[in-house]
Amino acid sequence: MDSGDNRPFEKVLVANRAEIAVRVIRACQELGIATVAVYSELDRDALHVRMADEAYALGGETAAESYLNTDAILDVIERAGADAVHPGYGFFSENADFARAITERGVTFIGPPPEAIEVMGDKISARQAAQRVGVAGVPGNTEFLTSAEEIVAFGDEHGWPVAIKAAFGGGGRGMKVVTGADDAPAALESAEREALAYFGRGECYVEKYLEKPRHIEIQVLCDQHGNGIYIGQRDCSAQRRHQKLIEEAPAPGLRPEVARAMGEAALEVAKGCDYTNAGTVEFLYEDGQFYYLEMNTRLQVEHPVTEMVSGLDLVALQLLVAAGGELPIHQDDVTLYGHAIEVRINAEDPAGGRFLPSPGPITKLRPPSGYGVRWDGGYEAGDEISQFYDNLVGKLVCWGSTRDVAIARTLRALRELEIEGVATTIGADIAILEHADFRNVVHSTKWVEDGLDLSGVAGRQNPVAPDPPEGDEPRVRRDVDVEVNGKRFAVSMWVPESAMAPAAPSARKPKRRSTGGTAVAGSGSGNVVVPMQGTVVKVLVEEGQEVDAGETVLVLEAMKMENNVTAEKSGTVKDVKVAAGDSVSGGDVVVVIA
Ligand code: ADP
Repeated sequence: MDSGDNRPFEKVLVANRAEIAVRVIRACQELGIATVAVYSELDRDALHVRMADEAYALGGETAAESYLNTDAILDVIERAGADAVHPGYGFFSENADFARAITERGVTFIGPPPEAIEVMGDKISARQAAQRVGVAGVPGNTEFLTSAEEIVAFGDEHGWPVAIKAAFGGGGRGMKVVTGADDAPAALESAEREALAYFGRGECYVEKYLEKPRHIEIQVLCDQHGNGIYIGQRDCSAQRRHQKLIEEAPAPGLRPEVARAMGEAALEVAKGCDYTNAGTVEFLYEDGQFYYLEMNTRLQVEHPVTEMVSGLDLVALQLLVAAGGELPIHQDDVTLYGHAIEVRINAEDPAGGRFLPSPGPITKLRPPSGYGVRWDGGYEAGDEISQFYDNLVGKLVCWGSTRDVAIARTLRALRELEIEGVATTIGADIAILEHADFRNVVHSTKWVEDGLDLSGVAGRQNPVAPDPPEGDEPRVRRDVDVEVNGKRFAVSMWVPESAMAPAAPSARKPKRRSTGGTAVAGSGSGNVVVPMQGTVVKVLVEEGQEVDAGETVLVLEAMKMENNVTAEKSGTVKDVKVAAGDSVSGGDVVVVIA
């Protein structure tokens, strides 16, 4: 494409990190648009920083201190002279205040109008918005919960199980399934605690929990001239903890009239809130019926499968419509070819179906290649997966002329993909794709957790991970990255070999890590050991208390997830070494049972 006057923007700031920042930077490069990266202290040498034309420090380590620091980002926008901001997904992507703040400065937010974000930002008002245009959702309440009794009343009326959901939630977090009245109080407390911690708002509501649904969603794209299209469907039913593992397009086995009805319903929902830019309308599908779930007012992680079957570059189109351009195609022009599958490669150990976060340094990363294979990565070998951010290492996206070809190609590519240093979901992905239930599309959103045996799956390709490299061999030339007034520069130095300083430190020295990735270690010793670094959310036992093997003794938050750490043997608690709020490293003994 020409990089002349047709560019929608001159300089785009990407307010995100890892694979999605890389994805947006690549699209900008192809359009001749200059790119600005921002980074936390841990990401000083991250891939998105290395790829962007300019990079600026935000300071801080946690998301709140860095990628969610509005003032720091506004300051960088001004210093860099960016004329647009792409928020990626997560962070500021669905934050109406941020969209307004930059728009007021004459900078374009590459996303929908703030009003549409607001309507869809709260799951209750999003349900009401769909109702207004006649699109039915999962049966549920449209009021915030104030007591566990309300959950019991709803369950008794509509049948159990029910789902408690964080009204301001997302990413599969803050949702608790309640199977009966007895569990309601604890589930509400846990849901509200997670909701407050992750989303800053604790409000929850209740809806019916469907037991074997498929998750099917529709990509929509609308311009500022009243044109809108839907681009096929994606099936995202392979999930754990209500988070997607594998997505595919189109949704297999959907009757054409149902597919069309879902697409049209999605577009109605979008138009009903004056939506512009890319968005996704999510549905649950069960027994031939579809129920509106919510609308995500941003680019989705799984957007590449839609790109692969439609031939449309969604990020380029986002840029185009954000700049006021008209959609270059109409609904009739949308044609889908073949089948695409995306596998999320997370730094998690799936052994035994536990999917335990596995932060740490990546010592080896060799992406696959070949016909029909796309790798959207956020890291390279030598980079570190931090416990402070989500653990998506990259996405493997494979296209095939049919679903069977796509499955075979994805399996081939997964076997080619080499990642060492951290555990990954690769083994679980292979188990899913090889399974007859997945191939025959008899799976549901519950299937990975309830129907798939992951007991024999290994999280690590190389169980005894080699030590991370201690630094480059001394060389005469040295390339270093320096930061001047918070702006990053790449500098080459030629120095005598004897005067070589160590390379600029990567984010931080990795701490000692447990290699097993099991929830408890020290079998029979009574030492309860945390399997990963993280922050203690809650200690559930005290000294002198009797505990049973398998009982949860504390809740640990790592990589934005709450993990239950359990006792391996029954006995009396002799020592509790941590309290809520403490940071722990993988391998630390937190509770002693005798
Ligand atoms: P989030 O905003 O956290 O992504 P969603 O409402 O989109 O939450 O739901 C995420 C996933 O949780 C769905 O794909 C589905 O697997 C499950 N889920 C959500 N609501 C229900 C429900 N009412 N019944 C069954 N599963 C549900």
